[in-house]
Amino acid sequence: MAADIDCVVLGAGVVGLAVARELALAGREVLIVEKTEAIGTGTSSRNSEVIHAGIYYPHGSLKAKLCVAGKQMLYEYCAERGIPHSRPGKLIVSATPAQSAGLSQIAERARLNGVSDLYQITGAQARELEPALACDAALVSPSTGIVDSHALMLALQGDAEHHGAQCVFHTTFTRGAVLASGGFELTFAGDEAMTLTANCVINASGLSAPGTARALQGQPEALIPNAYYCKGSYFTLSGRAPFRHLIYPMPDNAGLGVHLTLDLGGQAKFGPDTEWIAHEDYTLDAQRGNAFYEAVRRYWPALPDGALNPGYTGIRPKIVGPGETAADFMIAGPATHGVPGLINLFGIESPGLTACMAIARAARNALAA
Ligand SMILES: Cc1cc2nc3c(=O)[nH]c(=O)nc-3n(C[C@H](O)[C@H](O)[C@H](O)COP(=O)(O)OP(=O)(O)OC[C@H]3O[C@@H](n4cnc5c(N)ncnc54)[C@H](O)[C@@H]3O)c2cc1C
Repeated sequence: MAADIDCVVLGAGVVGLAVARELALAGREVLIVEKTEAIGTGTSSRNSEVIHAGIYYPHGSLKAKLCVAGKQMLYEYCAERGIPHSRPGKLIVSATPAQSAGLSQIAERARLNGVSDLYQITGAQARELEPALACDAALVSPSTGIVDSHALMLALQGDAEHHGAQCVFHTTFTRGAVLASGGFELTFAGDEAMTLTANCVINASGLSAPGTARALQGQPEALIPNAYYCKGSYFTLSGRAPFRHLIYPMPDNAGLGVHLTLDLGGQAKFGPDTEWIAHEDYTLDAQRGNAFYEAVRRYWPALPDGALNPGYTGIRPKIVGPGETAADFMIAGPATHGVPGLINLFGIESPGLTACMAIARAARNALAA
């Protein structure tokens, strides 16, 4: 019996939309189902909007490969579709000579990942670029950029719809099953409450992806990771920042450190910090700002008292808990779990925005494998 629809994409974040576009352009019939009222209301609108170069990720990881490939695809797509973006570059700054010794290791890891344009400068050279900066030395990443993530999502949705995809909102996937005859039966609640059959399911439901997979019965449960939430808070700067580049301290075990990013209007924000939480909760605790002053003043000593204002929060969709080695992206297709037509996208944290188009290509390939 023919399925009601060829492909169903669960979730209209930047990754779900990129996958929907990729499949629609390949001639597949696509339905995108989103539980909220609009595209990109989850992690895709609660991030730093940085186009990452691909510097820190372990060599050979999906994060490294898809970030480097995705960055290239994204820059080309932004240029082609007039999506607002820019390439201010980033400085990774070391505070002491001891820290500076680590810059060459970062550059070497980046080179292994295919990012060969990094170069090291002295503290004096860094201050020629950014007079307000305090540092011993810095690594310059010219290919790091910023993008208007909402304009990107609108373009992806537009392309997908132009090639026949349909989006429904206020509609939540609640349960489903792998059919013995092949394909899936899926049940949805909300505005478009329905049960339908599909040949393919792409689980791009972000923070909910492990729970979504558990609700789709007939796949091996043991291969579904646990979900962990790691909140990041941002504080914005009153007035204009005296910086033209994105400024990152040296990374440590906890992550990338409290860094400075700029949006396309030149507004500076600091963060995200890290806070493990049990439930999806975007409340921002203004007290967390106190720790930001000390962290930021290590590279910008002149940060005025009272200049930081509570901004917003985002939640990293982790699949390993606190203290564990960071996990790679998981693009779990038939080769992983043995169910034809099913792709689970787990742990799509940073650099998922940068990598979205490469993730979409990989998902399409995994479907065909
Ligand atoms: C603090 C922070 C900063 C980041 N900064 C960057 C950065 O600068 N650069 C970068 O490259 N990446 C960054 N990232 C990562 C990037 O934001 C994510 O990888 C990306 O947005 C993930 O997109 P997604 O589509 O997978 O998830 P989401 O955007 O979360 O989309 C999932 C969608 O699924 C929907 N959904 C969930 N359950 C259901 C259901 N049952 N039925 C229907 N719909 C459902 C949700 O409502 C949501 O809209 C950052 C992430 C965080 C948390």
